[in-house]
Amino acid sequence: MTAMSINASQESGEGKLWEKLLSVLEWADFSLIDDTYHLLYRIVKHPEELVPRYDPETDSYISPLMEHFKKYFKDASEFQARMNLITGFLLNHGALKSTVYTRRIECPRVNEHGPSRMITEYHCIFCGSFNLEKVRVIQHVTCGFTGIESQFKKDPATGMLVCPYCNVPLLRKNEDYRILKHAYQCMDCRKINMVPKIVHRCSKCGGVYDYRDVLYTPIYRFKQGPYAERLYMGKELILLGLKRYFTEKNYKVKENVKVRGLTLVEYKVDLLIAKTRRRWINVDILDSMPGFAFKAKLSSANPLTYRIVLSPAINVDVFLKEYPGAEKISFQVKERISEAAKWLEQSLGED
Ligand SMILES: [Zn+2]
Ligand SMILES: [Zn+2]
Ligand SMILES: [Zn+2]
Repeated sequence: MTAMSINASQESGEGKLWEKLLSVLEWADFSLIDDTYHLLYRIVKHPEELVPRYDPETDSYISPLMEHFKKYFKDASEFQARMNLITGFLLNHGALKSTVYTRRIECPRVNEHGPSRMITEYHCIFCGSFNLEKVRVIQHVTCGFTGIESQFKKDPATGMLVCPYCNVPLLRKNEDYRILKHAYQCMDCRKINMVPKIVHRCSKCGGVYDYRDVLYTPIYRFKQGPYAERLYMGKELILLGLKRYFTEKNYKVKENVKVRGLTLVEYKVDLLIAKTRRRWINVDILDSMPGFAFKAKLSSANPLTYRIVLSPAINVDVFLKEYPGAEKISFQVKERISEAAKWLEQSLGED
């Protein structure tokens, strides 16, 4: 998305949703904002990670997106809670979309013992035995007798099946006799199951469950929502993150302030971050190429205290060509807001 279309979409009535979205993160701590931003980066730059991958080793579906984030967390439940919070937030606000990719049979006790393999078995509907054998149901067309294969005698001389009812050998398939279908004969009670009971045995708890007991859990694939790029490329989330980072570290942070440059011209900056009365920096966050007035600002600004943070919407090469001398005081955010925050913190000096 170009800077132009960001501005255009802002004007076309997205404003309210956009404000709502940011207000949700308004209460969040810095690391949650940072993780949300990082998730947006993965959504926009690695869309292939949004599709679950089947892992035959564990017989389960793995989300590469979640796998990527898992490595940042020691505690699995903390990770799950946090990811649910962030993905829920992004789903609710149009940065992420989900569709059901497939469904998976799960043990009703999965929450107690964790993911398990569900082994499918056929059980006798009469006595419950698992010991069923697949048999063929044969109809002797000539006399109409229908029975399973073992009910027919075998002619020892020819090896042909002989009808137990009329004693005539079964000669031509589909003319003299037909194979109707397959059925299951119980090896314990000998009864025929035209349709056996399908059950699932859990590899962890050993329980046997049928369709009424098991969970049929949806596995989601995610898609980039219409606002994912907007959130990632725009300056709002970066601004919110930087404010939170420095506030949490007890810096003084002021937003949208007027400052006086070296040439005594007054101009506005996005942030003023102060460590002490003497140690402070001014920060601008850019998500589109600045206009002509920026040149004047740049020549008036003190390179010791003025810093520029570029959103991913800006082509750095173009920017530096347009504004030579900005390379030492600018930094581009790519994966995390914390990258920029740490870079800015260096400018405020060590204690
Ligand atoms: Zn049986
Ligand atoms: Zn017959
Ligand atoms: Zn189980």
